[in-house]
Amino acid sequence: MAKLKILEFPDPRLRTRATPVAEVDARIRTLIDDLFETMYAAPGIGLAATQVDVHERLLVADVSGDQTEPHALINPVIVEKDGVTVTDEGCLSVPGYFEPVERAGHIRVRHLNRDGEEVEMEAEGLLAVCIQHEMDHLDGKLFVDYLSEAKRGRIRKRLEKERRQQAQVA
Ligand code: ZN
Repeated sequence: MAKLKILEFPDPRLRTRATPVAEVDARIRTLIDDLFETMYAAPGIGLAATQVDVHERLLVADVSGDQTEPHALINPVIVEKDGVTVTDEGCLSVPGYFEPVERAGHIRVRHLNRDGEEVEMEAEGLLAVCIQHEMDHLDGKLFVDYLSEAKRGRIRKRLEKERRQQAQVA
């Protein structure tokens, strides 16, 4: 397993629209393992392949807090959604920022599992929010896109400044 580097906003590669996984093979299973390792180390509750610069439709999530409920979703499609929930969301690609975002409170997702079988799962609450957030990444979308342009601009400027300061120290 390997820990991967996470791209950070406003890196333009985060705007890439991912293509479907053609075959769930050993390469994809290794990528799933690496995504889990990277997510748990961060630590985070979800990670999309897009965030590690792999532009295929694949995400991992675990909202348990103790690494006991890992979910790996390949080529996920939401087939049902209802309810509304507002959560303070953060993102490993937008470190240090949490802002309220409105999403469906309950979803039903069709996807391939790590054995390549088509399955459906239901999710509600934080897991539903997390899956919707990660699926946005696969379409090149970030949670800051739901904020006002002024707020997104402020976050972008502060992150760019922090990165310049880090570059000078390094
Ligand atoms: Zn994110």
